[in-house]
Amino acid sequence: MTTESSTTTDRKKTMRMPSVAIVGAGMSGICMAITLLEAGVTDVTVYEKADDVGGTWRDNTYPGLSCDVPSRFYQFTFAKKPDWTHLFSPGAEIQAYFTGVADRYGLRERIRFGTEITQATFDDPRWRIRTSAGKEQTVDFLISATGILREPRYPKINGLTDFAGAVMHSARWDHSVDMVGKRVAVIGTGSTGVQIVCGLAKSVGRLELFQRSAQWILPVPNLAHTAIDGPIHRLLPLMNQLGYDGNRHVFEELAKGLVRPGWRRSFVQQVCRANLRTVRDPELRRKLTPDYQPMCRRLVVSAGFYRAMQRDNVDLVDLAIDHVEKRGIVTVDGRLHELDAIVLATGFDAHAFMRPMNLTGRNGLSIDTLWAAGPKAHLTVGLPGFPNFFMLIGPHSPVGNYALTAIAETQADHILGWVQRWRDGVIDTVAPTPEATERFNAEMREAMPNTVWATGCTSWYLGKDGLPELWPWTPDRHRDRLRAKPDFDDYDVRLA
Ligand code: NAP
Repeated sequence: MTTESSTTTDRKKTMRMPSVAIVGAGMSGICMAITLLEAGVTDVTVYEKADDVGGTWRDNTYPGLSCDVPSRFYQFTFAKKPDWTHLFSPGAEIQAYFTGVADRYGLRERIRFGTEITQATFDDPRWRIRTSAGKEQTVDFLISATGILREPRYPKINGLTDFAGAVMHSARWDHSVDMVGKRVAVIGTGSTGVQIVCGLAKSVGRLELFQRSAQWILPVPNLAHTAIDGPIHRLLPLMNQLGYDGNRHVFEELAKGLVRPGWRRSFVQQVCRANLRTVRDPELRRKLTPDYQPMCRRLVVSAGFYRAMQRDNVDLVDLAIDHVEKRGIVTVDGRLHELDAIVLATGFDAHAFMRPMNLTGRNGLSIDTLWAAGPKAHLTVGLPGFPNFFMLIGPHSPVGNYALTAIAETQADHILGWVQRWRDGVIDTVAPTPEATERFNAEMREAMPNTVWATGCTSWYLGKDGLPELWPWTPDRHRDRLRAKPDFDDYDVRLA
């Protein structure tokens, strides 16, 4: 058996500086870069295909955008913002926060903007990475921080390109289109569609929400913070800490309801059902009633959605779309819904992860071969056959209604541990073994039936095998597991 200490004793090396490439300058890439820099790992380059930091918060600018995780929790522990304006602050404020953090830590000079990594090949013991401009570079560690909801999913609807008005995906909002007083369709009833309905309902002339399946809605009012809230939190950092810890505690308690039956699950489900009863018109209520348990899909948080849906200028269309023509959407009953704009709130390819980047590990193993049956990882961060490669917000990360910032911090600390072992000469390359990865995935499959996500519904949570691609335990277990000293028997550790 190899242990960390025995390996260290066997072979001491002088401290050396690893070179690290991070793909993506979104929330998790920023988190990883800062974690490395703060630990003295300074040879860090971040590759970002767009021209600014922020990832999903840069890409999404639709009306009504906010984060449904309270801002006091959806932030980095090492860079707490005292003066969030709302319980769930708007998207632009969150984007300004991440750009501000990147600036404060001097990240911009380390980010290669407008540079996409198209190919990464493990060339023992280093990674050879190639950019879209054809430039090559080698690094000791490659870290994917490409986000989970990045590749917009466009629906296959006949005739969509024939439409004479504006068509846009929610993540590619076209601000040149003035929707005030216009006839607008929103397709999709996920968190995004619901936020857009709330954001547009008052200003458009007519809004039609095209629903393929109904969603359960948890009504949490988005309270504005008072003017003295910011100064108080700035003056008393303990308040900031309490705000973070208090929210984290609530979310971890609620997460218990997601992963096992019990009173927490029943409580949230009852709140959702009671919320639905606030819809006065029985016909509209019937249409808005999902045919699965609350929380089976990612819970949509909105205090204003049902109110918006009951406005005179808002209609719910629950008939399937047959096709689109020049003047609008035609539903299966043959009715033409005349429109000026169509918004596609149709979600993302949540299973793409770092792809289309072409990733090749040891002995020519490609990511498409490794993931032929769907994305799988060890402890959410490592891949067998891909030494010195790590992921943030990778497969099975605990992403369901929790702060991704907290998950990214946990994963970044774990990855830093391996980079430090390299720096200390304990390892040259490390990858989880196929056996350990399979054991971990089997453990997850065994736990999955207890979760609410496996109670019978379709959603982007489900992988190719029909099983949720989520962490089937509470987020604190993820934190504990990744913080624990690694069992070296689970890793293929090599010294050059
Ligand atoms: P989503 O949850 O995947 O919802 C996509 C919607 O589009 C669904 O209602 C889907 O219908 C519908 N749809 C897809 N193709 C369609 C078609 N061809 N015809 C008609 N309808 C179609 O996507 P999302 O709303 O963008 O949310 C994705 C995730 O982003 C969320 O779950 C959440 O994790 C995150 N998000 C978070 C926030 C936040 O505040 N933190 C805000 C927005 C989004 P079906 O349901 O029938 O498939």
